[in-house]
Amino acid sequence: MQEKLKAIVNEALEKMKSAEKLDSLNDIKVAYLGKKGELTEILKSMKEVAPEDRPKVGQMVNDARTVLEEKLEEARQGFVQKIKEEQIKRETIDVTLPARKKFMGHRHPNNIALEEVERIFVGMGYEVVEGPEIEYDYYNFEALNIPANHPAKDEQDTFYVNSNLLLRTQTSPVQVRVMEQGNLPIRMIAPGRVFRSDEVDATHSPCFNQIEGLVIDKNITFADLKGTLAEFAKQLFGEETKVKFRPHHFPFTEPSAEVDVTCFKCGGKGCRFCKGSGWIEILGCGMVHPNVLKMSGIDPDEYTGFAFGVGLERITLLKYEIDDMRLLYENDIRFLKQF
Ligand SMILES: [Zn+2]
Repeated sequence: MQEKLKAIVNEALEKMKSAEKLDSLNDIKVAYLGKKGELTEILKSMKEVAPEDRPKVGQMVNDARTVLEEKLEEARQGFVQKIKEEQIKRETIDVTLPARKKFMGHRHPNNIALEEVERIFVGMGYEVVEGPEIEYDYYNFEALNIPANHPAKDEQDTFYVNSNLLLRTQTSPVQVRVMEQGNLPIRMIAPGRVFRSDEVDATHSPCFNQIEGLVIDKNITFADLKGTLAEFAKQLFGEETKVKFRPHHFPFTEPSAEVDVTCFKCGGKGCRFCKGSGWIEILGCGMVHPNVLKMSGIDPDEYTGFAFGVGLERITLLKYEIDDMRLLYENDIRFLKQF
């Protein structure tokens, strides 16, 4: 009996040694210590043993059991330790590896151009003011000398929320809002989004950005307007840039003009960029119409002023020589990264 037990224990120990994974240990446990395991079978066959020998044999079987259980536990611990070590090895951080580069976003060319324009005007003592994108018909048209039956309103046929509210078609209503507050003098620019029912093409979009400028003070003349815009053009497009004023009509200014700058590509000689003319149109401007001043509670006999409006996209397209406005809205990172 002793021999038999010894053989069983040795056999089990051999199997443990060659076990390759935790599961195999479990199989060994079942095979030797389980309900139908080999040791259990021996206990069951105790009745064949002489009664006086039974305690001794029982003791031997229990000893064998204890040995197996201890060895199994030892082997199990070994496996657990090995698995842990492998895991640690696998998860080790190699601090000598170069760090992964963080992906940084990029400022939109429109924003870069806007900041440039703001920098120029803030440098001349202007304040940057913002206003609502959903505007009253009164501020968008009426107070800007565009009554209900005015043809200029047709040109800006737009997105109405109801008969009284609309998506603003220009940033000029911000001027009215500032004039109404009556804190004179005024020197401000108002950048922001505006909305028109334009079809999308290379130079049009139903949503674009304008920058409106307004100066109101005593003794402001057209010469101030001219000097201001000439300085703006120089700072934006280079010291050599000249400006040209062409008579035009806007309902809210009188007299009004459109402003061209000398082509910064050819210096005014004429090239493909300026379509051979040497000039590039950049904005509209004029002296604030006395009616507009009156409607906002400012006495036109005491105060005068000028206003101008420039399309931000126009500046961006010119500054970065982009030939299609749609590129500005597509958010293609390969395009945006260039600026
Ligand atoms: Zn040119």
